[in-house]
Amino acid sequence: MPTLTEKKPTRPTSRHHGRPLPELIFGDLWEFDPAPETADPKLKARYDLFIGGRFIAPQSGKYFDSINPANEQKLAEIAHAGAADVDAAYQAARKAFDTVWGRMPGKERAKYIYRIARLLQDRAREFAVAETMDGGKPIKESRDFDVPMAAAHFFYHAGWADKLDYVAPGRRVAPLGVVGQVIPWNFPLLMLAWKLAPALAMGNCIVIKPAETTSITALKLAEIFQDAGLPPGVVNIVTGFGDTGAAVMSHPIAAKVAFTGSTEVGKIIMRSLAGTDKKMTMELGGKAANIVFDDAPINQAVEGVVNGIFFNQGHVCCAGSRLLVHEPIAKEFLAKLKNRVRVLRLGDPLDKNTDIGAINSKEQLGKITELVNSGVKEGAEMFQPACKLPLRGYYFRPTIFSGVSMSHRIAREEIFGPVLSVLTFRTVDEAIEKANNTAYGLSAGVWTDKGSRILKMSTELKAGVVWANTYNKFDPASPFGGYKESGFGREGGRQGLLDYCQLV
Ligand code: NAP
Ligand code: MG
Repeated sequence: MPTLTEKKPTRPTSRHHGRPLPELIFGDLWEFDPAPETADPKLKARYDLFIGGRFIAPQSGKYFDSINPANEQKLAEIAHAGAADVDAAYQAARKAFDTVWGRMPGKERAKYIYRIARLLQDRAREFAVAETMDGGKPIKESRDFDVPMAAAHFFYHAGWADKLDYVAPGRRVAPLGVVGQVIPWNFPLLMLAWKLAPALAMGNCIVIKPAETTSITALKLAEIFQDAGLPPGVVNIVTGFGDTGAAVMSHPIAAKVAFTGSTEVGKIIMRSLAGTDKKMTMELGGKAANIVFDDAPINQAVEGVVNGIFFNQGHVCCAGSRLLVHEPIAKEFLAKLKNRVRVLRLGDPLDKNTDIGAINSKEQLGKITELVNSGVKEGAEMFQPACKLPLRGYYFRPTIFSGVSMSHRIAREEIFGPVLSVLTFRTVDEAIEKANNTAYGLSAGVWTDKGSRILKMSTELKAGVVWANTYNKFDPASPFGGYKESGFGREGGRQGLLDYCQLV
C-alpha cells in the first residue's frame, strides 16, 4: 500500500497551467512572521448556568474544564447541569413564555433580537478570539465567517419577527411554546444563532445545551442577552455532557426539540422520543461529494475543493469530503490540488495567517487518526504535505486519499476532519450514482461550465444544498438541511421559521 508523506514542501506558481509544475523548494522565502490576533477574549475563570436571566451555580456543585485545543491549556471552568438544573431552566422558560415572550407583539420581539445582533457586532473581535481559543478554528474563520454570520442570523430573523403573517401565506402562525435544543462543537456560536434566532422571532422560549468542549461563546452571548434586556427565562443555557443533552431533549415541557450533531446520537434521541407528541428537527452528519467536470474552471475548482474540505479542519457537516473528478482531468487536477495543499499553513489558530488550526479535541483527533489508518490499510494512496505540527495541542495534517473505491470506509463514513477521498467518474450518470451512493444527503458541489448540467445535477443529487462553481456559501435567507440520514427540517429562510411555529 503506497503511502506518501513528503519530505520537502514545494511551491507551485499559477503561471504554469497545463505544464508540469516546477519543483520549487520554499524554505525561509515563504515563512511569514507570526501575526497573532491580540484582542482580549474577556474570559471568566468560571462560568455558571444561565437560567431565568441570571448566572447560577449548578445544583450538583460540579464543574468541568474547557481547554484550548491549540495548546491544551485550561481556559475556564464550566458548570455541569444535572436533571434538576435542566428542569429549573424549563420552568423559567415556561414562565417567560406564558407571561412575556409568547404574548409580546412580534414588532417588540424584533427590537430585542436586533439589539442582540448589534451588541454581538460591537464585541465581534472579542467573540472571534474566544471562539478560536475554545474550539481551535483559525481566527480568520471565526473573525470573517462565524461571528459575522451569527450576527447576520439575528439581524435576518429580527426582520421576520413583525412579518410572521407572511411565513405561511393564507394561514396564521403561533409559537410552539418552549423548545429544547442541543448543538455540536464545530460552529459553536453560529449553530447557537441558527437555533435561537428563528425560535425567538417566532415567539418561543428556549433551553439550549452547547457541546461539552465549546460552551464559552454561548455563555458570553448570555452576557449580551443581559445587556440587551432580554426578559429573564426567554433563553436558558445549560452546559454539560453525558446525561445533560438527553435531559434537555426529553423534558416534558419541550413542545419541540431541535438537534444538530451526529446521526448516531440523532437516532438515539429519535428512538427515545418516539410516541411523544414533541415536534422534532434533526440536522445530522454528511458525506458530501464535490463533483468536478472536465469543462470546469480548474483553478477555481481546486480552490473550492480545498475550501470545501480543509475549511475549519474539515469539522463541517457539509464538508466536501469526497472529490469526484472527471477522468480526463483527474491527473492534472490531483497534481494541482496537492500543490495547493502543500502551501496551506497549519498552526496556531490565533495567527491571522493560519489556514488550518487545531482539531477540536483529543477524542476527535483519535477518530480521525483511526479512519485515516483504515484508508491506508484498505489500500488507498495517502498524500500529506510535510508541514510541521506544533508540539502541544491537537493537530492533523491535511490529507488526500487517491485510488479510493466506494467500498472503502473513508469513502462512506463521516471523518469530520481534514481528509479528502478522491474518486473518478466517466459519465454524468456515473457521477450522480456515486454522489448519491451514501447514507447521507446534506450537500454537494458541482463544477462545470454548462448551466444545463448544473440544473440536471442539482435535480438529481439527493442533497439539501447543491453549490455550483462554489462551495460552503451560506446566507440566513437560504434554508439548510438534509436528505436521508442527514436529518430533516430546515434552518434558515422562511422554511426554517415554519419549523418553529404551529399553523392556527
Ligand atoms: P454528537 O456527539 O452527536 O454531539 C452533539 C451534541 O449532542 C453535543 O452537545 C452532545 O453533548 C450532545 N449529546 C450527546 N449525546 C446525547 C444524547 N444521548 N442526547 C442528547 N444530546 C446528546 O456530535 P458532535 O461530534 O458533537 O458533532 C459532530 C456531528 O455534528 C457531525 O456528525 C456533524 O455532521 C454534525 N453536524 C451537523 C450539522 C447539520 O446542520 N446537519 C451541523 C453541524 C454538525 P456532549 O458534547 O456533551 O457530548
Ligand atoms: Mg474548548
